[in-house]
Amino acid sequence: MEEKKIIIIGAGIAGITLARELDKLNIAFEVIDAGVNYSSKIAAGLINPMVFRRMAKSWRVDEFLPYAKEFYAIASKDWGKVYFNLIPIRRGFAHQQEFDFWLKKQEIEEYQAYLKPLTNEDHENQDVINTFGSGEVLNAAFISTKQFLEDAFSWLEKTNRLRIEKVDYNAIDPANTSYKGIKYSEIIFCEGYHGLENPWFNYLPLQATKGETLTITSNEISRNASLNRKCFVLPIENKQFKVGATYSWDNPTLNITEEAKEELITQLQQLTPGNFEVIDQEAGVRPTVLDRRPLLGRHPIYTSLVIFNGLGTKGYLMAPLLAKELVASLFNNKALDKEIHIERYQKRLR
Ligand SMILES: Cc1cc2nc3c(=O)[nH]c(=O)nc-3n(C[C@H](O)[C@H](O)[C@H](O)COP(=O)(O)OP(=O)(O)OC[C@H]3O[C@@H](n4cnc5c(N)ncnc54)[C@H](O)[C@@H]3O)c2cc1C
Repeated sequence: MEEKKIIIIGAGIAGITLARELDKLNIAFEVIDAGVNYSSKIAAGLINPMVFRRMAKSWRVDEFLPYAKEFYAIASKDWGKVYFNLIPIRRGFAHQQEFDFWLKKQEIEEYQAYLKPLTNEDHENQDVINTFGSGEVLNAAFISTKQFLEDAFSWLEKTNRLRIEKVDYNAIDPANTSYKGIKYSEIIFCEGYHGLENPWFNYLPLQATKGETLTITSNEISRNASLNRKCFVLPIENKQFKVGATYSWDNPTLNITEEAKEELITQLQQLTPGNFEVIDQEAGVRPTVLDRRPLLGRHPIYTSLVIFNGLGTKGYLMAPLLAKELVASLFNNKALDKEIHIERYQKRLR
């Protein structure tokens, strides 16, 4: 393939998956990151194939999950650490209807990879406090997010493809695709919620959805599964668990709050009988979109400016395959799916 020099702005999970995809195809690139990350680093990295509210499969999970598994496995081979960790999710049913839905769905073939058929043991399970019982989701996982990001940064640094600086939009000439006077073939923006400030893509309905998490320690909470109802509890290293996450819409602030802490503690006490101690709290901001679909594609006027954003609550699941689809659309004329292409918001551009 013809050699191209691309700049990727942002080294969260979007920018990194894109960098890996370009590297695979020997396409030259450089990543610029402000050195401060408030989403990919904070994320628990849970991969949940189900949306419990509707007791439906997560959007395109049958495509996203196998590709994500392969993507993280290749990174593990290259960097010598495990990032993709299988763990079942034990869902405490919120009401009788959810239990009834599960019973129906577990009979349907396309759900059998994800919903373990309910048994008496599930009904009697004591890990979650629940009147309506609980069930186990299979093929769920979590990504070791901090380790993955650290190793991805080292890989970029070692190969001289990482620059730590905050990109000033005034230094970009969109008509010439240049940054600080140097011409590039494409400038790809992977800025997470900072995309709200981007002067060329700020017509898109990106939203800043703040989330907070707690780290707790406990000898009493089950480590057999990630427990879930209202909040999730994910066993991590050294008797610790991550608990999350809160949602605060249109909120780009990064401070931790007492309110969020209280909310998560209350939800946790309603979910599990185990005692615990809070040892840490973090806040981050998810880049969410009005229609809950990611934002990918070339700018309609400045076509060498490209966006990869809007990963919402499921960045670690979706980013690997989306990066592949974006690269195929940019360099192999493979059309992006209409559902993810930014042309769906063309009318908003003035
Ligand atoms: C509390 C919380 C819990 C979450 N839990 C999960 C989960 O369990 N599973 C899951 O899959 N997802 C989860 N998410 C969502 C996930 O974090 C996001 O989908 C994903 O991280 C978004 O990645 P991104 O690369 O688009 O953005 P980011 O991770 O925000 O990365 C953007 C990068 O761009 C850089 N940048 C921005 N502007 C500039 C500039 N002008 N110059 C230079 N650099 C710039 C920033 O420094 C940053 O590093 C969670 C999010 C939060 C907040």
